[in-house]
Amino acid sequence: MTEDREIVRGTPVVPGIAFAPVIWTAPRPEVVPGMPRIDASTRDGEKVRFEEAAALVSQRLRDRATTVSGAAAQVLLANATMAVDRGWLGAAQKLIADGTPAEEAAVEATEQFVALFTNMGGLMAERVTDLRDIRDRVVSELLGLPEPGILVPATPSILCAQDLAPADTAGLDPEMIIGLVTVLGGPTSHTAIIARQLGIPCVVAVHGLESVTSGTSALLNGEAGELVVEPDPGEARAAVEQGRADRMRIQAWNGPGRTSDGVSVSILANVQDGAGARSAGTTAAEGVGLFRTELCFLDRDSEPSVDEQAEIYSEVLEAFAGRKVVIRTLDAGSDKPLLFAHHADEANPALGVRGIRIAAENPGILSRQLDAIAIAARQTKSQPWVMAPMIATPSEAESFAAQVRARGLVPGVMVEVPSAALLADRLLGHVDFLSIGTNDLAQYTMAADRMSSDLASFTDPWQPAVLALVARTAGAGIAVEKPVGVCGEAAADPLLACVLIGLGITSLSCAGAAVSAVGAKIGTVSLADCRRAAEDVLTADDPAHARAAAARVLE
Ligand code: PEP
Ligand code: MG
Repeated sequence: MTEDREIVRGTPVVPGIAFAPVIWTAPRPEVVPGMPRIDASTRDGEKVRFEEAAALVSQRLRDRATTVSGAAAQVLLANATMAVDRGWLGAAQKLIADGTPAEEAAVEATEQFVALFTNMGGLMAERVTDLRDIRDRVVSELLGLPEPGILVPATPSILCAQDLAPADTAGLDPEMIIGLVTVLGGPTSHTAIIARQLGIPCVVAVHGLESVTSGTSALLNGEAGELVVEPDPGEARAAVEQGRADRMRIQAWNGPGRTSDGVSVSILANVQDGAGARSAGTTAAEGVGLFRTELCFLDRDSEPSVDEQAEIYSEVLEAFAGRKVVIRTLDAGSDKPLLFAHHADEANPALGVRGIRIAAENPGILSRQLDAIAIAARQTKSQPWVMAPMIATPSEAESFAAQVRARGLVPGVMVEVPSAALLADRLLGHVDFLSIGTNDLAQYTMAADRMSSDLASFTDPWQPAVLALVARTAGAGIAVEKPVGVCGEAAADPLLACVLIGLGITSLSCAGAAVSAVGAKIGTVSLADCRRAAEDVLTADDPAHARAAAARVLE
């Protein structure tokens, strides 16, 4: 591509090439404070106008929930309920009764709840984003503006946004939105996870994206992490053709995972419920490497019974009958609060009581979940592996392993905290396998919040320090011949997947949509090349140099 073209760059998330006009999400409505007060005689009518707008927004969210499944549907249904929440409606009605126009009442009532949620601590942060999203939808309705968020384009387009709300990403049509680029977000942000699920080329944390206006043609390269503005159309079409040929090669891949010199590497899928598992079952994934159980219960205010849990877990086991399934116990807390886990207020929830730490205060939640997994295993005649999140000490691993073995299940733990990587050999004294969660391992190694787009380059899994801990953990597994996999987003990056193999990783678990790309890439490289790339990457000084070093050997 000629160098004088404007190129904006960010963090690559989902590989793939797209050449199309850019569209931006519809702007959020603005309510200028100090609107004229409304007359006493029209206040009742204003209340009805407000109520109707909220009901319409709720109904639209509910309708959209019927077009998606799993966690996406649950997020939309939760938001639909929030849009007609009595407390919120009541607060707005009260303001209207005092003469505040409906638009301003919506804003003020929302801010009261935002303040309340914020005071309850960081655990409710996700809900605050949702509250503001609902407010904007209701205000747009009241002002007669189009629904904010994603416009449905007339032709396939590259969607640009500051960031995407859950309500937006859940309804994306991959036929029409063929690329995603955001100013905010990190490689493990909500946008990134949904883009990966849908297989849409995606780049996040792009500096200078605002200068690329709607209608401009652009070439998105999801692997290089760049958007070329007004590219030469001939060159852009050739790049798309090349991308298409690569995609066909990827689609034709149907496993099993194996390097070009025949070394086996299991390629597994990350799932979050039965529907997700059935969909992953249609890919070449050999099994499930991470079943995030907490995502089944995000909208539940009371703990699901053992029988109900067993039914949900059975669905996933049935979708992969006779194959490997790794179930992770509830990773509640931080950005995934579960109401029934009764999280305390914490100044730093990511460093607080999350994952296995919940069991210290509330052992019943863990033991009932393990009972449910054991029932599901019996019902489906399967032998699931069960692992705990956020393990930091060998003692935690020992106690967890005893509880899992007592139920006839296979115990393992996640390596997400640097202390676990440093003592991986001692963890392996207690459990049968390790699974590295590179999303959290990066966050805790680099002291950088994985939700912060400003810190995306720190939480990049190509950080050499993170990969050094992966190498140490894999080495501990090799020494005692126990499997060590990776189930964080790092495993979804085909080039990085090769490096992980070179570091000694034995299985890779990623979103179903990424399985073929990872498997196809691995089939083109030898174990010796992977090892050479791994050595070079460990001596790099930053993610960009690490990527370049790997590409020199493997591409
Ligand atoms: C991880 O931390 O890499 C991981 C797989 O767990 P989660 O993304 O669910 O925190
Ligand atoms: Mg994690």
